[in-house]
Amino acid sequence: MNIEQSINKLLEKYNNEPEFQTALKEMFASLDSKSLSLIKDEAFLERLVTPDHIITFDVKWLDDNNIEHINKGYRVQFNNVNGVYKGGLRFHPSVNLSILKFLAFEQIFKNYLTTLPMGGGKGGSDFDPKGKSDNEVKNFCYAFMKELYPYIGVDKDVPAGDIGVGAREIRNLYNAYKEYSGKSDCSLTGKPLDMGGSLCRTEATGFGVTYFALEALKQYKHTDLKGKKVIVSGSGNVALYCLKKVTELGGIVIAMNDSSNSIYVPSGINFDILRELKEDKRGRIKEYKDLVKDEVIVKESKAIWEVKADIAFPCATQFELDEEDAKKLISNGVIGVFEGANMPCTIEAANLFIKNKVIYSPGKASNAGGVAVSGLEIEQNKKNEKWSFEEVDNRLKGIMSTIFNNIYKCAKDLDDEYNLVKGANNYAFIGIVNKMFH
Ligand code: NDP
Repeated sequence: MNIEQSINKLLEKYNNEPEFQTALKEMFASLDSKSLSLIKDEAFLERLVTPDHIITFDVKWLDDNNIEHINKGYRVQFNNVNGVYKGGLRFHPSVNLSILKFLAFEQIFKNYLTTLPMGGGKGGSDFDPKGKSDNEVKNFCYAFMKELYPYIGVDKDVPAGDIGVGAREIRNLYNAYKEYSGKSDCSLTGKPLDMGGSLCRTEATGFGVTYFALEALKQYKHTDLKGKKVIVSGSGNVALYCLKKVTELGGIVIAMNDSSNSIYVPSGINFDILRELKEDKRGRIKEYKDLVKDEVIVKESKAIWEVKADIAFPCATQFELDEEDAKKLISNGVIGVFEGANMPCTIEAANLFIKNKVIYSPGKASNAGGVAVSGLEIEQNKKNEKWSFEEVDNRLKGIMSTIFNNIYKCAKDLDDEYNLVKGANNYAFIGIVNKMFH
């Protein structure tokens, strides 16, 4: 078998699923000869890229005027060789099967990197919670779970939140799960604390990517975050808690955005003020200007990558940072780009960072803190224990440090020290393939 030809033939099959195709391309392009030699035949390739189950359903829900709407619902259960299917639910108008397959495929390898027993899955709906009343969101969550509950469970598939699915949605989804299934087997993570959630889960992805960055800065550049000027894109869950931890560790977050605007604040963005604006009031980032006395420059969303900074954390959404953006960051002297979102950098942007010896970490490694603490939430629920914030935070730090060191060593062994994409993909690919066939 000519492996390259087989891979190209396989990729062509997914021309109409561009996000999924990109995830496959990124994975296969980074595998070295030892990893590629594990691919025995075309049947193996097919199995690796084919989800175990794809569940699709219609979600019929009532708005506040009693009018019925129908959205699409999905759950992709991709691979469970490393444990129960695990991955978030995304509610966003852009959701389709290509995006969910890409995210579920990434999740297989990300979850392996955490060292915890979790397989890969992802789900969601093209429902847009933005602008909906709490009652409408509740109606939608109940209707969604009515279709999904037979397919999930603590020993089978444990979804969590993702874009558009925060504490409010998880509360509704878990209440609906209990009502329809008659069980309370903790088959969702990211639950509110009073429902069995873990302390530090809300903070986990944002804190985790910052711990990862700290370890990487230490190993590559013998430095840390103190005094560094930092860009954090997005202003949702991941971005907010990245802002919080970076600030605590002495960095100055000078630019953030949402899908409408970016803000540039030379004196640094205040976590408490932005958190209240975004989480409590569900406001827009440009309103930050009205809440502080500091200089705040509001521009269009993409202008965030024009800001001169030492470090960037793309924490908003997929493919938000392209080659042109990467060029701007590099010419402005960036030394590290750490992905908090899933695949926020295009392949071309990532390659440019690696070529220019900018420390660049793929999301599947550096944003694994969220799913890692979800794994710890499952462990606490199973043991009927509640660990302190410090205990969970310390375990998170340990896991992020292990992830960095495993993939950094793998990259060095492959003689490509600055290529953490290769490090992460080869390390996790070998681990998963060995589990699939032994
Ligand atoms: P949220 O829904 O809480 O926040 C998403 C943020 O990104 C919002 O501020 C949103 O702005 C902004 N955004 C969306 N599209 C764009 C765009 N095109 N340009 C600029 N900003 C944009 O999601 P999360 O913070 O939970 O997730 C962010 C990313 O991190 C996703 O890729 C997710 O898959 C990934 N992730 C999340 C984890 C978690 O634990 N939450 C775990 C691991 C990965 P607006 O309000 O305008 O839409």
